[in-house]
Amino acid sequence: MAEKWVYLFDELDQATAYVGGDWENVRGLLGGKGANLAEMTRIGLPVPAGFTVTTEACNSYLDSHMRFPKQMWEQELAALAEVEKKTGKKFGDPKNPLLVSCRSGAKFSMPGMMDTVLNIGLNDNTVRGMIEATGNPRFVYDSYRRLIQMFGAVVMGVPDEPFEEVIAEFRKARGAKSDAELTPDDWKAIVERFRDIFRRYNRIDFPTDPYEQLRLATEAVFKSWNGKRAIDYRNAAKIAHNLGTAVNIQAMVFGNMGDNSATGVAMTRNATTGEKRIEGDYLINAQGEDVVAGIRTTDPVERMAETIPHAWKQFVEITSKLEEHYRDMQDVEFTVERGVLWMLQTRAGKRTAQAAVRIAVQMAEEKSITREEAVMRVTPEQVDFFLHPQFDASSKRAAMAEGRLLAGGLNVSPGAAVGMVAFNADLAESWAKKEGKKVIMVRPETKPDDVHGMLAAEGILTSRGGRTSHAALVARQFGKPAVVGVAALEIDIGQHLMTVGDQVINEGEWISIDGSTGEVFLGQLDTMVPDISDLWLMKLLQWADGFRRLSVWANADYAQDAKRAREHGASGIGLCRTEHMFFQAERLPLVQKLIMTNVPAERREALDALLPFQREDFIALFKVMDGLPVIIRLIDPPLHEFLPGFEQLMSELTDGKIRLLNAKNLQEIDELLRKIQEDERILRRVEALREANPMLGLRGVRLGITMPELTQMQVRAIFEAACQCAKLGVDVHPEIMIPLIAHVNELVTQRNALEAVAKEVMAERGITIDYKFGTMIEIPRAALTADEIAEHAEFFSFGTNDLTQTTYGISRDDAEKGFLIDYIQRGILPENPFVSIDENGLAKLMRMAVDLGRKVRPGLEVGICGEHGGDPKSIAVCHKLGLNYVSCSPLRVPIARLAAAQAALKNSG
Ligand code: PEP
Ligand code: MG
Repeated sequence: MAEKWVYLFDELDQATAYVGGDWENVRGLLGGKGANLAEMTRIGLPVPAGFTVTTEACNSYLDSHMRFPKQMWEQELAALAEVEKKTGKKFGDPKNPLLVSCRSGAKFSMPGMMDTVLNIGLNDNTVRGMIEATGNPRFVYDSYRRLIQMFGAVVMGVPDEPFEEVIAEFRKARGAKSDAELTPDDWKAIVERFRDIFRRYNRIDFPTDPYEQLRLATEAVFKSWNGKRAIDYRNAAKIAHNLGTAVNIQAMVFGNMGDNSATGVAMTRNATTGEKRIEGDYLINAQGEDVVAGIRTTDPVERMAETIPHAWKQFVEITSKLEEHYRDMQDVEFTVERGVLWMLQTRAGKRTAQAAVRIAVQMAEEKSITREEAVMRVTPEQVDFFLHPQFDASSKRAAMAEGRLLAGGLNVSPGAAVGMVAFNADLAESWAKKEGKKVIMVRPETKPDDVHGMLAAEGILTSRGGRTSHAALVARQFGKPAVVGVAALEIDIGQHLMTVGDQVINEGEWISIDGSTGEVFLGQLDTMVPDISDLWLMKLLQWADGFRRLSVWANADYAQDAKRAREHGASGIGLCRTEHMFFQAERLPLVQKLIMTNVPAERREALDALLPFQREDFIALFKVMDGLPVIIRLIDPPLHEFLPGFEQLMSELTDGKIRLLNAKNLQEIDELLRKIQEDERILRRVEALREANPMLGLRGVRLGITMPELTQMQVRAIFEAACQCAKLGVDVHPEIMIPLIAHVNELVTQRNALEAVAKEVMAERGITIDYKFGTMIEIPRAALTADEIAEHAEFFSFGTNDLTQTTYGISRDDAEKGFLIDYIQRGILPENPFVSIDENGLAKLMRMAVDLGRKVRPGLEVGICGEHGGDPKSIAVCHKLGLNYVSCSPLRVPIARLAAAQAALKNSG
């Protein structure tokens, strides 16, 4: 038997059998539109008769020098004969003509990217028959001119302008405001003029043979698969280029046949809010394009209840049947022809994040889908939407259109922020706090002593740095929108300005940054704030909690972040970075002093001064996390973050020496000399501590071993705080985390030094605390020797920021400004390993560490606290690895809850 290239809408069973029963494959063969038309036909809905020429036919045509595959045209003709039978009309018959539409329809929707020809079958003979049948010459000539115009544009490539000019000319001559005011004779004359245009452009007459029209239109749709628009769209939407398009040929129905005819589009629920109410537009006595083109003002679709009540009643029944059948909100097109309702299209409706959540939850409550399906239907990105201010879409479009998009960088901390540019932290803080201004803090990169400015700012923008840069970490931690690594930005701190190309932006000028997309705009964009306490979202997340196996903890350094994390559903703190606690203005000098001095007494003094600060921090944290575990990581600073810059010190020193030359009196000389000596001492220390690659230098446990008094002070502060809280009735569970070990001996050495202090404090206070000692797995050697390490650690936490750096050998601070991005763009790396866990490499090390660790200590608690802990893809990896929890920034907790549930549901078979 010859291959079957054409399926009638009522031959869905054959198509399904041919592809082996799978609906996705049916969509692949018949295209989304064709499959849905056939499906609607199958469930008994009123669909105008028609058939689909398959995507296989299209691919065969495109592969064989634009020739129809054998038998395809014959099958198309046979199918057309069936349509004639079903409609009782005949193609090309002057008395009772059948007209058809010819539309593209690929597996995935590509709106407006391919071609459509309507009213095929009209010619001078059938026009007469149509006029007789409808008694409406105006409509018939209008349809005819539309055919010539569409055929000209789609099949022959004639531009629209000459056609439109003719209509404009007629409107002007008649003093008509709209096309509706032109007379039947006008349209008849316009048809003639259109045919002239067709002839002029193509040097052939408009084909009047209906079969020739159909053949050319079929070919044109096939070819439109490889049109530039379609290729560009597929590239952007990541749709494969070898799928091909199907062609749907369907009897035309007309919504412009009088006052009991209409055409419209509708969504079965509100696409913005999700409310369960049909929303749409329709027009009495109009064709489909009139609704979409916005030439006439449409009416809300529910008005049909008054104008064509029986059709409305039927429409309500059909849309509810469609929702029930497809088990999702539908976007439909329909036409009422002389009181008879016809469904022309249905597909899943596009919707906002709010609507997606509400629709999923309500459909589960209506029992049309399961709760599991509801949880699977909402994407983590849609949850993210509820957590941050967003730019108003129209305001953003306007800014784009006005050329105010300045540059793009890395979208490291989501949300929209608007403010005046401030180039230093003190200015940012004073503008924000004292003058109540909104500020965006802009720096080449940030350091700990910028934190007060970052906190006061609405958002943060840097020209350098990557996803795990200081600016990115701090911004995420505090939920501040941030864009970093904007290479196009030249910042001149000295001149208080920045430039992007020729554009100069001075301090104090307004900019707007979008931390969700990485875009930077000039001027003020409007923002809107979605609501995280949305009741539908709450319910969805509660359901998600019931499905997930992974716990979700948060990375939080301060009580206020921990509180927010808990409100968002975190069940522990997975990482408190204690070095961040030293960034505050009154503490930083103490830490600097501690590092800069070699004198034991001075060091002791600094430590004694820091202890109460630390204790208070922990007390606040424990109180907020009452009853839940809190992992406190001992200090792990890249040391340079705490030290004054070497170059800056050098220039200050030179400056002092020059001033010495010009000193006016002895007192001034004395003062300058003292300052120079002090500066020289600091410079010597800074030079001694200076490292070529501080991210691989005296960090983590290495600092703790070199300077045990520092981590001992921290442990004392933790246990003093824990005892104090316990006395107040707070249920405390501190877990002390030792960072960046490579060898078990580092852990043993540090743990011995620290646990002694813990015991000492508990003995002093007479209180026993439930505590754990554990470590981070951040270096491949630690993963490889996890069994040795687990002997001395009650928990592991994967520091995947450092583990990625050390496994890949890519400096995390430089990663995103160098070759890595180029690698990703060129496809050398499939994705950024600092964003999503590298499953083939890093995850193997992780698995090894989990297995080795749990072999020695079966109950070993294992989690992740690198930035990957909030990334849905990485969360799925963590689920598969059997971790106990993922820990992420407080604002990602709801996203992680959903992602963890989705990972569990996907893996439950
Ligand atoms: C890590 O390395 O993944 C981690 C959480 O620690 P930090 O980012 O502070 O180095
Ligand atoms: Mg680390």
